[in-house]
Amino acid sequence: MTSHAEPHAARAALERRRADAVRGLARIADGLTVVREGRNDGAADDEHDPEGPTMAAEWSRLTGGESDLRVEVAAIDAAIARIDAGEYGSCIRCGRAIGAERLRARPEAELCIDCARLLERSS
Ligand SMILES: [Zn+2]
Repeated sequence: MTSHAEPHAARAALERRRADAVRGLARIADGLTVVREGRNDGAADDEHDPEGPTMAAEWSRLTGGESDLRVEVAAIDAAIARIDAGEYGSCIRCGRAIGAERLRARPEAELCIDCARLLERSS
């Protein structure tokens, strides 16, 4: 079956996104270290005004971003595995080709737009 997907272009796009996500995770790890150290020495952070986000809020913002990025990396790895298996670009739910435009915008997409909308509504 001919697919609209271009596995080579998709792999390059996926690897770029993966590298971005990994860099994002490294930045978050640094941020978490800063927050942890800030907590430990109890020093006031004079770069932030007292009305600004608390350390706890910053911590949960960072860990939230971290889990989002981990989910993204896992999705990207799964997409790369689908390229290797020759299944890339087909919806994992209905098996139809995922639109090229959707894959350009979201190369790790594993559902066609119809299935994605369907699942979104039911969740
Ligand atoms: Zn589908």
